[in-house]
Amino acid sequence: MPPTHGAFAEFSHTYAALPERFHVRVPPTPVAAPALIAFNDDLASEIGVDRSQLSDASLAAICAGNSVPEGALPLAMAYAGHQFGSFVPQLGDGRALLIGEVVDLQGKRRDLQWKGAGPTPFSRRGDGRAALGPVLREYLVSEAMHALGLPTTRALSAATTGESVLREGGPLPGGVLIRVAASHVRIGTFEFFAARGDVDAVRALADYAIARHYPQLRDDPDRYFALFEAVAERQSSLIARWMEIGFIHGVMNTDNMTISGETIDFGPCAFMDEYDPATVYSFIDRRGRYAYGNQPDILQWNLARLAETLLPLIDADPGQAIERATASLHGVPARFDRHWLAGFRRKLGLGVCVDEGGDRALVTGLLAVMQAEAADFTSTFRALAGAATDDTALPGAFLDWTHRWRERLAREPGGIASGIATMRRTNPVYIPRNHRIEEIIAAAVQDGDFGPFHTLHTVLARPFALQPDRDPYRTPPLPHERVQNTFCGT
Ligand code: AMP
Ligand code: MG
Repeated sequence: MPPTHGAFAEFSHTYAALPERFHVRVPPTPVAAPALIAFNDDLASEIGVDRSQLSDASLAAICAGNSVPEGALPLAMAYAGHQFGSFVPQLGDGRALLIGEVVDLQGKRRDLQWKGAGPTPFSRRGDGRAALGPVLREYLVSEAMHALGLPTTRALSAATTGESVLREGGPLPGGVLIRVAASHVRIGTFEFFAARGDVDAVRALADYAIARHYPQLRDDPDRYFALFEAVAERQSSLIARWMEIGFIHGVMNTDNMTISGETIDFGPCAFMDEYDPATVYSFIDRRGRYAYGNQPDILQWNLARLAETLLPLIDADPGQAIERATASLHGVPARFDRHWLAGFRRKLGLGVCVDEGGDRALVTGLLAVMQAEAADFTSTFRALAGAATDDTALPGAFLDWTHRWRERLAREPGGIASGIATMRRTNPVYIPRNHRIEEIIAAAVQDGDFGPFHTLHTVLARPFALQPDRDPYRTPPLPHERVQNTFCGT
């Protein structure tokens, strides 16, 4: 008989040690027939999760929330948030449960969390469950983001439940994801306590965030202001990186913005096909609040919500606190722009050393042609490496721009060759294209076929290298394949 309940991970629990009002202990609700779809062995070994002592059935049971691994302490975290601009004083983990924390091989503390493991006191009218489609989307897109080199939560496992969930369109197969995060502390976590006037809790949370994510600030006498600036810096860098790969988060509510600076919550997210800053895929975002081109503005808006929660900690004098926070917030666009320009310069093959005055105009000039031509974002940037030496690598409309850019590229210290190498490292061949995601979800949901999911996952694991026989994963959608909306699945 194989052991059914061996060690899974060495759990510890710093969040559970915070005061009671931060969380609610709640066990996962078992599902009818747990079965494993995917288990991320690479990530597991990185974070010290060991499946070797578990039978397949025990592993599936843990991944679906049917069994609580030894040493875990499941809990739902309290948080609030601004959703599409309106404040909701209580959200919280309505369908997610912190399993516990592990310390990874680098000594970094990581959260393990079930998503879809049943109702909690924060579920409101929701069922606490996730549909299989969104579980697969989150698995693929978060892992693709990681392979692209962006800070992101990861996916440890995906499981089916043998149960259906009821959504607007009718019943859908259910799924459970285990995700791994640097932590699940969000701007909305600060807002939860600030809205209740609970300054002690805000301070405890800020100290927690500093200890976990910004330990270098621990002894800083001005550490709460420094915390704000550190989060502003990481989030500015993150959103700039989203822009560089054409990523649209879709629901940049303050409860979906981490203090760690990781991308979190892959709901109606999408990668842009043809370049247009007004692109929005999420059907719940009717007014385009979270359109591609609005993401930098929302970054600043969300950081303003965080700053508000920290005011009493920044200075005992409210006037002083507001003045300092406001000045820092006004610096966010410049902060973002530094990352944005550096990132897009790299995409053009320009190194980090010499930033010529005309480089910004080169970037915006290219984007203007792309928009006018409705050019595919990812393919156009990928084609640049070829266009450095070949006039036919891009359509004729790009030729004038290409010639200007080549003159600039030739002035790079390493010349054109090093520019080409930079571009091949920076501009991916493969992104999780919407039509491919929809395709793998349809195969899984309609036919129970997970083959396409696994193939797409394999392709996306190496986004920068051209892979033989993988053209269908590289090319933009044909007109009939275009995806208009992505689905939230909540
Ligand atoms: P999200 O849109 O996934 O960021 O979730 C926003 C809020 O709705 C969070 O408080 C979630 O926990 C909650 N929520 C989303 N889906 C469900 C569900 N199926 N059951 C219960 N709560 C949910
Ligand atoms: Mg969320």
